[in-house]
Amino acid sequence: MQDRDVIVVGAGFAGMYMLHTLRRLGLATTVIERGSGVGGTWYWNRYPGARCDVESMSYSYSFSEELQQEWVWPHRYATQPEILSYANHVADRFDLRRDIVFDTAVTAAEYDDSEKRWTISTGTGQAFRARYLVMATGCLSVPKVPDLPGLANFNGRVLHTADWPREGYDFTDQTVGLIGTGSSGIQSIPLIARQAKHLTVFQRTANYSIPAWNGPIPEKRESEIKSNYRALRQKSRASYAGDYADEYYVSILELSSEERTEQFEKRWQEGGFNYQYAFADAMVSEQANELAAEFVRNKIRAIVKDPQAAEILCPKDHPFGAKRLCVDTQYYETYNRDNVSLVDIKADPIIEITEGGLRTGQANYHFGVLVLATGFDAMTGALTKIDIRGRHGVLLRERWRDGPRAYLGVAVTEFPNMFVITGPGSPSVLANMILACEQHVEWIAQLIEHAEENALTEVEADREAQEQWARQVTESASKTLYVKANSWYLGANVPGKARVFMPYVDGFQVYSRTCDAIAKNGYPGFHLR
Ligand code: FAD
Ligand code: NAP
Repeated sequence: MQDRDVIVVGAGFAGMYMLHTLRRLGLATTVIERGSGVGGTWYWNRYPGARCDVESMSYSYSFSEELQQEWVWPHRYATQPEILSYANHVADRFDLRRDIVFDTAVTAAEYDDSEKRWTISTGTGQAFRARYLVMATGCLSVPKVPDLPGLANFNGRVLHTADWPREGYDFTDQTVGLIGTGSSGIQSIPLIARQAKHLTVFQRTANYSIPAWNGPIPEKRESEIKSNYRALRQKSRASYAGDYADEYYVSILELSSEERTEQFEKRWQEGGFNYQYAFADAMVSEQANELAAEFVRNKIRAIVKDPQAAEILCPKDHPFGAKRLCVDTQYYETYNRDNVSLVDIKADPIIEITEGGLRTGQANYHFGVLVLATGFDAMTGALTKIDIRGRHGVLLRERWRDGPRAYLGVAVTEFPNMFVITGPGSPSVLANMILACEQHVEWIAQLIEHAEENALTEVEADREAQEQWARQVTESASKTLYVKANSWYLGANVPGKARVFMPYVDGFQVYSRTCDAIAKNGYPGFHLR
């Protein structure tokens, strides 16, 4: 049993920065990571076309001026290999690997009330004890394999986008079936289509996607950002989504019909998330949302030549942006290829996977490779998978049966000295997540430092503060259109999971100001013992 001050679980962007920060406080810290390398999301999701959807010069660490000045992002939206190589560079530059235990999954963590220590067990049999436990296990790190009848009988290769083979996969001359048209499907479909003999896409829910217009970052733009990086990062921290892209907050309903078309076209041509975040009323007014949605549908109708396929691709059953917006490269254009077909499995659902493909109510489809772009048990999956036992042996999984509850999305009552990075109830997935990770890491480190300086042995969220926070998160979400889709934000994609809207919708800037005020005022809502 190894004794440490802090155990951090997960070596993605959150865990790496947590380690770096705790080291600076002089705390003996070990990170435990299931994978064989750093990078988290970018270590596992190696499917063709995987890229970030927040611009790289923003979706990157801001904590080191030297790092952000020296690193060169070749494209507006970096590819998975580029982001992974950045994560590896950070690990080398800050000498992180010597305190990371790889190829080791944490299976259980138990709090000892009398010793004020966490005991952490792993799949390799190695065990650790620590005063603090930081869960940097990720919001999107547990791939969801759908319970499709007959899946085990399939004779060909099954690939999940979030658990892609390290050596890659060559689709040349292959017939491919792909299920899932969220961001992972939408990014991978155009590239698989270019390689495969034939690709059949099985779509249950059409999604809204905005073009990335990806390309090299012009030198002038790079130098403008780099000479102004600090100010831009501050701007990100003071913004709704933690990004320095301009947010104008135009109200769709206040614009004339011509102005509206002009604004939508402008955002479409800029590409990416500004199409959603530029409009103050897009996520609160059904009428405004429908106007933004119809503009996207008309773009789809203009791009996709087969009118029947175009209609299937037009989302009509949920508000624009209520499921996470996708950002694509040539997604809709791909359906104009002769080697791509689209099957509407909402109209004609899958009955079973067969040995050589799949069968719907009306047809049989044949393919040799099945790609599952079917998403994740998001936000809570990585935490509830582990047997985390707090005070008196209470199980986190049980406590969260009716939905997760965490004060500030960071701390859970009955689980003292445990902190969750980008946990449910924090902006997390609605923000630029590297910035969201940095904000949490810095805030948690400050709290631990406060505890160390004041010889505190226990930090625990107050039950009433936690309940009040959960009520506020739910209430804010219920005033938006986010709750009007069966999304993973709500846990709706996992059968049996409680339907609770998990991210904090009031904005990254409001959230981080709240956290700062709590720290400044001596941590109300926490018991400091
Ligand atoms: P992760 O990167 O998920 O890291 C968590 C780590 O914990 C993993 O390495 C995992 O193996 C490890 N772990 C989990 N459980 C255990 C356990 N029991 N024992 C040991 N180790 C464990 N966000 C954005 O803001 N912008 C984007 O453009 C963007 N693109 C994305 C693209 C994809 C394909 C996906 C899936 C997500 C994307 N996200 C994006 C969200 C992304 O998850 C975050 O941006 C960020 O990478 C999260 O970092 P993290 O360290 O919190 O979690
Ligand atoms: P996702 O958004 O949850 O999409 C999963 C897709 O699989 C949906 O189309 C879903 O259909 C379908 N599906 C699931 N189970 C199915 C079943 N049994 N039968 C038929 N279809 C089924 O997952 P994701 O695409 O992996 O993305 C998850 C999140 O990761 C994103 O929202 C984003 O935050 C992040 N991400 C970002 C990027 C990026 O662009 N940078 C790329 C990938 C992922 P239904 O909608 O009908 O359930």
